[in-house]
Amino acid sequence: MASLPLLREKALRRAEVSSADWNDWGWQLRNRLTTREDLEGFVRLTDEERRGIELAPSLFRIGITPYYASLMDREHPSCPVRMQVIPLGVEERVSRGEYVDPLGEDGLMPEGVSSIVHRYPDRVLLLALDRCAIYCRHCNRRRLVGQDDGVIPKQELERALDYIRRTPQVRDVLISGGDPLTLSTDKLEWLVSSVRAIEHVDIVRIGTRVPVCLPMRVDDELCAMLRKYHPLYINTHFNHPKEVTPEARAACEKLADAGIPLGNQTVLLRGVNSQPRTIEALNRLLLKMRVKPYYLFQGDPVQGTDHLRTPVSAGLEIMEHLRGRITGMGIPQLVIDAPGGGGKIPILPNYLLNWSNGELKLRNYEDKIVHYVEPVERDCTCAYDEVFFAPS
Ligand SMILES: *Cc1c(COP(=O)(O)O)cnc(C)c1O
Ligand code: SF4
Repeated sequence: MASLPLLREKALRRAEVSSADWNDWGWQLRNRLTTREDLEGFVRLTDEERRGIELAPSLFRIGITPYYASLMDREHPSCPVRMQVIPLGVEERVSRGEYVDPLGEDGLMPEGVSSIVHRYPDRVLLLALDRCAIYCRHCNRRRLVGQDDGVIPKQELERALDYIRRTPQVRDVLISGGDPLTLSTDKLEWLVSSVRAIEHVDIVRIGTRVPVCLPMRVDDELCAMLRKYHPLYINTHFNHPKEVTPEARAACEKLADAGIPLGNQTVLLRGVNSQPRTIEALNRLLLKMRVKPYYLFQGDPVQGTDHLRTPVSAGLEIMEHLRGRITGMGIPQLVIDAPGGGGKIPILPNYLLNWSNGELKLRNYEDKIVHYVEPVERDCTCAYDEVFFAPS
């Protein structure tokens, strides 16, 4: 296997850029690969990929940072990086059970506020912009992102902030999009500080793929800004160990050093990370750079993604494999985000084989059968709660 730095150096030479440009996130965004000619500088395209590229304008735009493209395998079409960003002709096929808006998000926007999705009582999703650093072929928001590659008008964001201000049950604001870390530090600061200033908001979360595909964006200025608004959490989106490069690691470590707890949301993708050993390797690498595996998503039924989705059994096998083999810190929750908008539903291998008369028959990770006998007393009242939770 050729070393990653070597591949990257080759990519640099091909594009003939200085390392100052390469490490400039603005340059990376301005020079994203969007056409067949661009891509041919990095990989030997297959016929199916060429067809996908031809169809992409009517399906979902292509956008790949030179950095992310430099991780692609030039020869092998099953390269996990390639498969996430180069479209295939089969994307034009709409399969049974697939939707334009798989999670019914459009129906969960409060009246007159198009950048809030309010599904759970205590938390909202704030869609801050429609631009991402790369456009992922499995994106569940492909109907929204990448349309005009721009920032949502400030008045619209003001309406979103107003909604949060007048909705006191909201205690957790998840800033997403699009990718919020592709905003300028000033714009992002305006948004984060505005959310932070709302008294009933306990925590702010940012969802981003930047550490994966534009790690140079995580600079000192960004970290210095973010650390002023704690408690702030970041969830990122690594899907394959190949994405854990020295640059990605540096980005995550910088954020962690700024005191930001990091989680990761992986999307299960057929032929990319659908094998237990791939997720095991990924999660070990994530933990080493202080990122806690948070969710493992069954692919959302987005139109044109049938070829990228896995049977649910693949996810269950991965969970079965992880349990007992890797530290509990490295075990994410496997979830299906309910089509139509029911929220995330955890699914687990079945460890509870029988439960009757206060006795549980359980199975451990080695398939050993154990029994657990429940205590006799069943009343679980916490008598002190009346004191602790008493209105003062
Ligand atoms: C995923 C999601 C959240 C956050 O869910 P958590 O389980 O709290 O991480 C909130 N709102 C919407 C609409 C979501 O899709
Ligand atoms: S970064 Fe996230 S929102 Fe953007 S295209 Fe990829 S999956 Fe979609």
